[in-house]
Amino acid sequence: MYRWLAPLLLILTTACGPLQADAVGEADGLVAGHISPFDTSSPAITNLDPALLRAVRQAARDAAADGVELFLTTAWRSERYQRKLYEEAITKYGSEREARRYVSTPDSSRHVTGDAVDVGPTDADDWLNRHGSAYGLCQTYANEMWHFELATTPGGECPPMRADASARR
Ligand SMILES: [Zn+2]
Repeated sequence: MYRWLAPLLLILTTACGPLQADAVGEADGLVAGHISPFDTSSPAITNLDPALLRAVRQAARDAAADGVELFLTTAWRSERYQRKLYEEAITKYGSEREARRYVSTPDSSRHVTGDAVDVGPTDADDWLNRHGSAYGLCQTYANEMWHFELATTPGGECPPMRADASARR
């Protein structure tokens, strides 16, 4: 009765196989919406530099005490995830030069090395821009108010921001 089912499944599996292999998933640091810095199951969080993660968690606790929820929209990303984002940006902005202002190349991205987090929502970005240096956390690109890195010692002064991601090379 279901003799046709096996060949059909074979066709579907073959057709979808290469797509699945290319798809970027949780193992690449893909985040569905946003994620708590206290999530211990997601590679996006567990692959972060431990010192950065400690600082972000401490900031999130203190922000919460101020009534501000702090979450991450993206954190660590695999090289192939970054390459996908970069290629999408080239399509969107029309050239590699323009794309690099918004998305770093896979070999220059601080997200790929686990040294950057993107913070949300906007209230949390505001909070972290005011209090981040107490944890060593600094906004490093002037055009990305959500992008933070461990860029000074706790209580130190944040370095001047780069205009955008393309200035890091
Ligand atoms: Zn970022």
